[in-house]
Amino acid sequence: MFNRLLIANRGEIACRIMRSCRRLGIETVAVYSTADAASRHVAEADYAVAIGESSASDSYLRADRIIAAALSSGAQAIHPGYGFLSEKLELIDACHANAIAFVGPNRRAIETMGSKIESKRMARAAGVLCVPGYDEDDQTPQRLQGEAQRIGFPLLIKASAGGGGKGMRRVDAAADFLSMLALARREALASFGDERVLLEKYIINPRHLEVQLMGDRVGGLVHLFERECSIQRRFQKVIEEAPANHLPAAVADSLYEAALRMGRAMNYDNAGTVEFVLDADQGDRPYFLEVNTRLQVEHAVTEMTTGIDLVEWQLRSACGEPLPLSQEAITRQGWAIECRLNAEEPEHDYRASLGPLLGYAEPARQAGVRVDSGLHAKSEVTPYYDSMLAKVIGFGHTRTQALDRARAGLEQLRIEGVRTNGALLLQILLHPAFDDVLTTRFLEQHFPNGPHAQALVRQQHVLAVSAAWAASQPVTQPVWGTLRGLRLTAPAGHPARIDLSVRDVSAASDNEAVCLLSADGGYELADVPGQRAAVQSGPDGFVVNLTQAGQNTVSVHVRGSAEQRWFSWAQGRSMVWDVEHELEHSLHTGSAESQDSQLSATLPGRISEVMLQVGQRVVAGDLVLTLEAMKLYHSLTAPLTGLVQKIHVAVGDIVSHGQLLVEFEIEAEAVDTAAT
Ligand code: ADP
Ligand code: ADP
Ligand code: MG
Repeated sequence: MFNRLLIANRGEIACRIMRSCRRLGIETVAVYSTADAASRHVAEADYAVAIGESSASDSYLRADRIIAAALSSGAQAIHPGYGFLSEKLELIDACHANAIAFVGPNRRAIETMGSKIESKRMARAAGVLCVPGYDEDDQTPQRLQGEAQRIGFPLLIKASAGGGGKGMRRVDAAADFLSMLALARREALASFGDERVLLEKYIINPRHLEVQLMGDRVGGLVHLFERECSIQRRFQKVIEEAPANHLPAAVADSLYEAALRMGRAMNYDNAGTVEFVLDADQGDRPYFLEVNTRLQVEHAVTEMTTGIDLVEWQLRSACGEPLPLSQEAITRQGWAIECRLNAEEPEHDYRASLGPLLGYAEPARQAGVRVDSGLHAKSEVTPYYDSMLAKVIGFGHTRTQALDRARAGLEQLRIEGVRTNGALLLQILLHPAFDDVLTTRFLEQHFPNGPHAQALVRQQHVLAVSAAWAASQPVTQPVWGTLRGLRLTAPAGHPARIDLSVRDVSAASDNEAVCLLSADGGYELADVPGQRAAVQSGPDGFVVNLTQAGQNTVSVHVRGSAEQRWFSWAQGRSMVWDVEHELEHSLHTGSAESQDSQLSATLPGRISEVMLQVGQRVVAGDLVLTLEAMKLYHSLTAPLTGLVQKIHVAVGDIVSHGQLLVEFEIEAEAVDTAAT
């Protein structure tokens, strides 16, 4: 076995590969770009080598720099992970030229399977059924259009060199074909440097099934059963499982058989996957799609159900060792479901979510929950690479148990600050249709606009953030002690009240008025009686425990940051808020008679703005000062209508709670009015 391995990748897969290496006593060398200098895969490696600027084309796609890093660090082998250079001839060629072992299959397999056109030809020659279509050399628009007519619509135009769900166009009508073809070609050339396309009949209710293959360099080849990857968005996998649900044994056998034929045709000698599409309406004929000549993202569900460490097997094969087990000795038990956690907001058309993490914690170790993550507390999500942050895998004796555990893992993986698709994943797992035969149309059918808004969940976040905000006011007499300079304290036993203005930043929604009540050390929203919040502050922000009728419902993690920005996280969902206190007052206060002619600091802080001059006339409620405390800005307003008599502070002054700031002189007519 090798004693030092370089991993030419980043994120969760780099960390995943290192895990196997540690167990096998192999030293690891990470490579990293500028953006990744502080990332987890660098921290976890034994050695790390910088390979260039943040953009992938200047770092992770630079085979020359990766080889140089391997040579300088004394690595004997390179594991390419997935994506990046994993299926590029450039890396395997450079490895061979420098006597470094490449952890992957033979060059010819990568080359042939890198072209969807070539791979379909090989599949047909091996007697494997392919999706009907056109994959010949004549690429003239006239010929392609003629073939499109023959195949019928809808059809897919695929970039022959495409991958990762990119470079595919669905065409629904003949009239659109030529314009779509031109578009697909341009994209293929720009993204993959090869404008060749193939055409495929579009299967209307497709089910994505695939078979894991493993080969060695001494002629061994086995399959490790199937995975179902039908939960997809835009041709990209979102949730995968093993085994496939509702799959007749005879169909499964035909998949294994076809995959092995393909493997033999390629002389396959490492980890690879043969992908198929099944027409859920047309019975049980699997059509060959393509071969991925690398470890796949979803390999974990195969590992959980077979008990085999695929990375270990890859390394053994790459060193020339025979496969550790024969086909007969490979068995499968239980069920595994994997969810891909991406930095994106499905509720807003899947826009990317970027920035530093504010908090991060993985679920405690527990049976049947596996988390493969590339994150740690110091991670920052940058725009340069794939949006996948982590995978949560649930494993159990039955599908239901695997589902429950995947849900538990998603609920407990705490990613604060950056938004993810966690809530959508949870809703998918809970959806009744997730138990039916799955097709790739699942998301468009059941979640066309991302996750369903959950009023209760939102309300829980609002309560938690409001309560944490109130609790963060660092005084014994909290903000509701003073209103516009009035001293207002709720009589003992009566709830004090604070009116906040809260805005859901990521929904770009309007400010919403929130009336928070405080009594007996807890908090409630005035219009949601019975739901109570207890706030605990810790080194890591606040933990707000919510109860409903005395029963614990959920714990929400809340933290404030610069300005009035607040972050909440609970059960896989992270939200961002602006919080301000508008007016504070007690339910039990009085009227004009308690008016004060003085304005005092409602909390300790730094005066950041003074909008007053001596002699100026103010109207009760006018904004007169702003105070900065705990990186939040608080507005102070005039307590009465009158004239400014004396200003005791200036911008930059640090004031303590209760300190006198401004004195006013009440206007004579205002006194008269009040008296009558
Ligand atoms: P990639 O290299 O991008 O993974 P694939 O050929 O594997 O490309 O296709 C990706 C996904 O697109 C499949 O998993 C499937 O959901 C969908 N797809 C591909 N071909 C077809 C087809 N002929 N009909 C319907 N869906 C298809
Ligand atoms: P898997 O079947 O392993 O999930 P995916 O098709 O989802 O494979 O791709 C895995 C990773 O590799 C993703 O990060 C994807 O963006 C990337 N990837 C795969 N093939 C290509 C390619 N030809 N070009 C660019 N990215 C790719
Ligand atoms: Mg594919």
